[in-house]
Amino acid sequence: MRKNGLALRYSNGINTVLGRDATEYPVGALLCRIYQGETLYNISQIVRNCIGGCPMQDNELTQDEVEQAEDYILQTLMYDDFRPAQRLAQGSFIRCMENYRALDSKTAGWFLWQEKQRATADDTFFEDIGFGTVGEFLRLCYNNYVIDLINGIDLFLVTSAVWAGDASEEEKGRYSELCSALHDESVIPATQMLTSYDAGTSSFRYTYVINSFLAMAVFEFSHMAETATKIVRCQNPECRKFFTAKRITAKYCGNPAPQCPGRSCNDYYPQMLYRDKVRSDDLDRLIKNAKCRLYNARRRHPETASDIGDLLDSLMIGADEKKQEVLDGTLTKPEFSAWLNSHRIKEGDSSYE
Ligand SMILES: [Zn+2]
Repeated sequence: MRKNGLALRYSNGINTVLGRDATEYPVGALLCRIYQGETLYNISQIVRNCIGGCPMQDNELTQDEVEQAEDYILQTLMYDDFRPAQRLAQGSFIRCMENYRALDSKTAGWFLWQEKQRATADDTFFEDIGFGTVGEFLRLCYNNYVIDLINGIDLFLVTSAVWAGDASEEEKGRYSELCSALHDESVIPATQMLTSYDAGTSSFRYTYVINSFLAMAVFEFSHMAETATKIVRCQNPECRKFFTAKRITAKYCGNPAPQCPGRSCNDYYPQMLYRDKVRSDDLDRLIKNAKCRLYNARRRHPETASDIGDLLDSLMIGADEKKQEVLDGTLTKPEFSAWLNSHRIKEGDSSYE
């Protein structure tokens, strides 16, 4: 029997993804890599388009046709760039196909009725589904693939937010809802565990084949809990992705920074903060100078105290906003200086300063 899904070995906080080149990922890293960004969205779009373009979609659903359709789906997912995500997607889709083709007609009828209700209520799903033709069957499987995908991503996002300690009230609520649902093991598609004996090392080896997004999230979170791996949210406000770290004090992730895709957040963002801090200190100094000028002028010319008071008020009210405009790039520094310089007492062409 073919094993469709993500095949990996797990040991001491490391997942080894099996395949042509075995690759190692520290626990949690695959989850953060696959469940964030565009990868799964792109893969799902590819599958959706291929179902629409399936040449045998009007054929009657027979055993042979199902097998050909499986091959067709596997082929459509050969071209994405991140193989573990692609294997997981293939596994999830083929699992739905295998499960549904095995249903007896009574169960299938009941199941289809429920699925049609769901599709009518939510336009994410195909409505034209069933067990009559290959096309109907593939659309039915796609709907259930999407449900598994949504459940997996949902679990990833709320669990990460809660574990990272910055979950909103809504996320906390969703987290406890999911935790109580996952208490029932039948909710999580089973992960296959294969045992073999390695004569070279005289030890047993366990290979896991995961064919569900939800099961993958549970698999990874269980090992993260066991190894006390921390999950943290990137403090770059334009990134906000979750990443794993040994220390909860880690601040920035290693993904490309949205502000500068050639560099990672942990490289780019602290430097940008430093640059902003230097610029901000510089602007504060200019504001302080402008204020001092007015205080000195008031001391030297008490008769203008009321006019100078107005200028000081205007300066204090506007300075923070103008400074922020410079930091945001909407006001230049010479414009900022000119604005500060407009806060002077003038008499003819000479100031009191
Ligand atoms: Zn980041």
